[in-house]
Amino acid sequence: MSNFITTKWDVVVAGGGPAGFFAAIRCAELNPGLRILILEKASQTLGKVLISGGGRCNVTHACFEPAKLITYYPRGGNELRGAFTRFQPADTVAWFEKRGVKLKTESDGRMFPVTDSAKTIADILLFEAKNAGVKVHIGAALLKVEKNPKGGFKLEVRKASVEPGRNDAEVLPLQTKSLLIATGGDSKTREIVKSLGHSIEEPVPSLFTFNIKDKRIEGLAGVSVEDVTLKMESVTTRGPLLITHWGMSGPAVLKCSAWGARILFDKKYASPLTVNWLGDYSPDAALEVLQRNRDWHENARKKIATNTAFSQIPIRLWKQLTDFIGDKNWADVSKAELRKLAGELAGGEYRIQGKGQFKEEFVTCGGVKLNEVDFKTMQSRIVENLYFAGEVLDIDGLTGGFNFQSSWTTGWLAGSAIK
Ligand SMILES: Cc1cc2nc3c(=O)[nH]c(=O)nc-3n(C[C@H](O)[C@H](O)[C@H](O)COP(=O)(O)OP(=O)(O)OC[C@H]3O[C@@H](n4cnc5c(N)ncnc54)[C@H](O)[C@@H]3O)c2cc1C
Repeated sequence: MSNFITTKWDVVVAGGGPAGFFAAIRCAELNPGLRILILEKASQTLGKVLISGGGRCNVTHACFEPAKLITYYPRGGNELRGAFTRFQPADTVAWFEKRGVKLKTESDGRMFPVTDSAKTIADILLFEAKNAGVKVHIGAALLKVEKNPKGGFKLEVRKASVEPGRNDAEVLPLQTKSLLIATGGDSKTREIVKSLGHSIEEPVPSLFTFNIKDKRIEGLAGVSVEDVTLKMESVTTRGPLLITHWGMSGPAVLKCSAWGARILFDKKYASPLTVNWLGDYSPDAALEVLQRNRDWHENARKKIATNTAFSQIPIRLWKQLTDFIGDKNWADVSKAELRKLAGELAGGEYRIQGKGQFKEEFVTCGGVKLNEVDFKTMQSRIVENLYFAGEVLDIDGLTGGFNFQSSWTTGWLAGSAIK
């Protein structure tokens, strides 16, 4: 059925995602004589690239200082510090521009192709791979890896038939000198990696929204607040927050879900959450503003529910946060009520009751333990000629292009090192 199996390969890349493609292209460009094969188990390559960033592909982030860049990685930041001095977002931008794909920067630092189409990114990767002589096989899943006593690896690959109307498959042997594992969050490959002596940090989801059923935010889907601080156990995050049908989303929540990914997993996504709707106000500072507002003569006969003391809080939210005070004028609100409101504004207690999906981006935290990999070459410290790149590693970033950037960087480093 297949002819690719009959050949011995110099380099096999398991996984036709961004990390695998970037590595294969780099390796082929540096070593034109090498026979390089990408195995992709799905019926198409670069599947996640095509759906990424809401179909626009947030390729990277306009952050060009490695020391700052690593602060966006809840896991893997330390290891990536050196790696980013070799290949960072500026290099990503240059890589794509050199090949005719211009990127643009949005006001929040996210970078997209000017076409606003993820297909532009997938197409250029496919084109460059083909141009560099990299072979790509779809419907080909890596099943098993054994070290060859004479060096290199013996592989077992399940190759599905690509002929229309057929859905049979065969398991075929394959040999390669070097093997790069770039299979993303695939659970079966983790078993292969373990069989080679590597250990795995157990995977759990990162970048998700919070399910919160609470009267104070009920019916407010679509309302957003620009600057909110969230506290969940030891995790504190700050940024915009969006109220949704199910609870809360927006950058502050996504950051909290990423930094607190393991804590929330262990707590089965049920946890108290403190929300400071006023960014960095303390309850005392909030109380001061509330008191001034109450004592201001022009406010005396105005309803508290419809006259906010803080312009940054949308009136619909303000109305629900002040609901416990009832239908009172500002002048009639007691000090105790104001104190309670200040606490509510600068530290309201909510409860996370589950997680929802953030459709623009999603990653797993966990993967191959980082101390088992040399981050100068991405080679395994345990098995010679075995390499790793991308999400298969215990690296994950915040939303904003950081996850692709770690795939570009680790892919590029692996591709530079494999010979
Ligand atoms: C909906 C969504 C949107 C996203 N948007 C963004 C974004 O805009 N910006 C950003 O930075 N990040 C984004 N991400 C995260 C980003 O897609 C990943 O971090 C990135 O794709 C990881 O690249 P990778 O090459 O390591 O793995 P993947 O992209 O997961 O590629 C791995 C490939 O390996 C294949 N594979 C798995 N097992 C085997 C096997 N045994 N044999 C052969 N092939 C195998 C898989 O089918 C897959 O094609 C998004 C993620 C999702 C889910």
